Amino acid sequence: MEKTLVILKPSCLQRGLVGEVTKRFEQKGLRLAGMKMCQLTDDVLSEHYAHLAERPFFQLLKDAMMATPVIVCCFEGVGAVDVVRQMAGTTNGRKALPGTIRGDFSMSSQENIVHTSDSLENAAIELKRFFKDEEIFDYKSVSNAFIYASD
Ligand code: GDP
Ligand code: MG
Repeated sequence: MEKTLVILKPSCLQRGLVGEVTKRFEQKGLRLAGMKMCQLTDDVLSEHYAHLAERPFFQLLKDAMMATPVIVCCFEGVGAVDVVRQMAGTTNGRKALPGTIRGDFSMSSQENIVHTSDSLENAAIELKRFFKDEEIFDYKSVSNAFIYASD
């Protein structure tokens, strides 16, 4: 089982898509292991988006991520990092495929509804960034036998 971070961005909250996006991950069979609303800060976003620090849109991106509170989620499943990333679609909503979250709900690179971790290593780092240990819950999912069978 892998755990991955999803952030429902201000664009998700403002567009009224929190239920729709969360529903997609639940219906796929991912287990919700943690979820909370929080107001992000410039400091945490500078760390979270450090790989984009030299890009001209860096401050715009951080400002957009602070425009409203966000909802941070931890989803768990077999191969969850890649599954969630594929469900989100490529960064630019205009290029993301229909059927993906960004492909269905976004027309922008910046206002693209969700953040998703891009590797198992980064998922672990990012979950630690946004959640305390006791905010991640390891309750048993009773439907697993009907989600995974033997592979
Ligand atoms: P992601 O992993 O698909 O979210 O993409 P990145 O890690 O490359 O970028 C992080 C976030 O920065 C994206 O989700 C967008 O919100 C934002 N972003 C990426 N490229 C652009 C861009 O060209 N312009 C603007 N304004 N924001 C961007
Ligand atoms: Mg990224």
